[in-house]
Amino acid sequence: MNPSATSRAIDLLAIAAHRDDVEQTCGGTLIAMAEKGYRTGVLDLTAGEMGTRGDAATRAREAEEAAREMLLTHRDNLGLPDARLESTLEAKLAIAGKLRELRPRTVILPYWEGRHPDHYRAAELAYEACFLAGLKKLELAGEPHRPAKILYSALYANIRPAFVVDISAQFERRLKALFCYRSQYEDQPTAAGLFPAHQEIEERIRAVARYYGMLIGAKYGEPFIVKEMLRIDDVVKMPVASL
Ligand SMILES: [Zn+2]
Repeated sequence: MNPSATSRAIDLLAIAAHRDDVEQTCGGTLIAMAEKGYRTGVLDLTAGEMGTRGDAATRAREAEEAAREMLLTHRDNLGLPDARLESTLEAKLAIAGKLRELRPRTVILPYWEGRHPDHYRAAELAYEACFLAGLKKLELAGEPHRPAKILYSALYANIRPAFVVDISAQFERRLKALFCYRSQYEDQPTAAGLFPAHQEIEERIRAVARYYGMLIGAKYGEPFIVKEMLRIDDVVKMPVASL
């Protein structure tokens, strides 16, 4: 194995379509795992050049600031076409290349259905890239690597999650990370009709996290779904009271 690749290896990688997606969907989990001592990272697929507010350069600075707030070891951006992400071999290989470089054990993807085409396409592209990255004969630099586990963020999916991570101790930090994107979330009276005010966004995000927290007897939570079955080894110590 390439030693430089190993030294850069991270434990948990979240892949998302846009900067500020992970701050809304799984940032609390990333913070919680960093606090446990894991090396965490984010790979944003697009640079946000189609966004109504701000520009790609501003959002890049904001993403760096949010990365520090979320205690990330690594954050990267592939610069794929924003708002028109397409399932191409080129895009899959670009993601697979990063997977070989970063060598995550666990990957968090967006849910595979959604309103924004970039979100479900990101889920599909990244899933296929996880598969491709493990193929020995693939014409791609780096040692083959396939993540062991794929979690899908279920926050904006109208489904019953498979599990919820307690982010009570990380929620405020996650909120601060989201509000690093001042170009997106600062109140702008001229666009008041189109963009909800800062306080409205905060209330909405708090309510959603509170709802998922309540499901596991915690204050705040982040929901996930997995395609395979969850295994439990100790049924005596299972958390969350039934009655
Ligand atoms: Zn997004």
